[in-house]
Amino acid sequence: MTDEVLGFIGLGQMGSRMAARLLEAGHKVVVCDRVPGIVAELVAKGATEAASPREVGDRADLVFASLPTPAILRDVALGPDGVIAGQRARCFVDLSTTGPRVAGEVAAGFAEAGRTTFDCPVSGGKSGAAAGTLALMVSGPRGEYDALEPVLKVFGKPFFCGEKPGSAQVMKLCNNMLAATALVASSEAIAMGVKAGLDPALMCEVINASSGRNSATQDKFPRAVIPRSFDFGFTTGLSMKDVGLCVSEAEGMGVPMLVGSAVLQMLGVTAATYGKESDFTSVAKILENWAGVEIRKP
Ligand code: NAD
Repeated sequence: MTDEVLGFIGLGQMGSRMAARLLEAGHKVVVCDRVPGIVAELVAKGATEAASPREVGDRADLVFASLPTPAILRDVALGPDGVIAGQRARCFVDLSTTGPRVAGEVAAGFAEAGRTTFDCPVSGGKSGAAAGTLALMVSGPRGEYDALEPVLKVFGKPFFCGEKPGSAQVMKLCNNMLAATALVASSEAIAMGVKAGLDPALMCEVINASSGRNSATQDKFPRAVIPRSFDFGFTTGLSMKDVGLCVSEAEGMGVPMLVGSAVLQMLGVTAATYGKESDFTSVAKILENWAGVEIRKP
């Protein structure tokens, strides 16, 4: 294990924190990001930098990726300058939320080259990534999973979801559709309560002690909406990507997703108003504008 070199590609909100945990756990880590300079902090902590995903594949045995979209993941994994073109990497683990289709393509591409892949989307945000308390949903070959599990435990708690590539991605899309739905529905309910004169902090306290409690009233409203910071750490664009993947996968499977479709529309309105780079808690501001209120401490 000590001679094993780990690779990490994509050092944004999640990846930078997860790679830092690998270094703190004593692993040798090769890092790579499209944005030059973003890796400086990790290099200062002991990582070495690679110029391309291919170079990561040449220098690391086990390569992790935490990237924004399925298209970018496909290119980083299978492209001409991708990990698969490297000579050393025997296993590729996608920590991003990229949906089951690309997970299948990446698994097939690596299998042809005699190598292994796992899709391993995560939940818990940048605070969970920093603390090592993420939930990790994993699918891939069961026989090779046992060797991977100790490294995954550096990031949080792994749940093995099945051998079929993409099973963990489906699991993750279901979770994120629910989390976004909770945010949108809570924004509607709390905008209404505030318009009627209720204190939003009290509303969250009551809801969290009652049957309406959810991840938005427990975490996002108290931390990023009521204090008006709108900095939960997940962009509207990424949430749109997740719910869009979920709705389109569901449609392909003949599963109607009426509520998920409405949530996707709300995220679209938020992106059109505040930009895709806005924090997805900005959806509450759309409801505020429509209701003519501000969700803040009275
Ligand atoms: P981010 O945009 O902050 O980070 C992505 C990083 O990938 C950036 O540093 C970017 O420069 C880099 N990148 C893009 N294209 C690249 C390429 N071709 N080669 C190398 N690097 C490249 O995104 P994030 O919030 O860290 O999310 C990463 C993934 O994790 C996404 O799929 C997201 O849906 C998922 N996720 C995010 C959160 C969260 O709370 N932020 C939680 C769970 C899962």
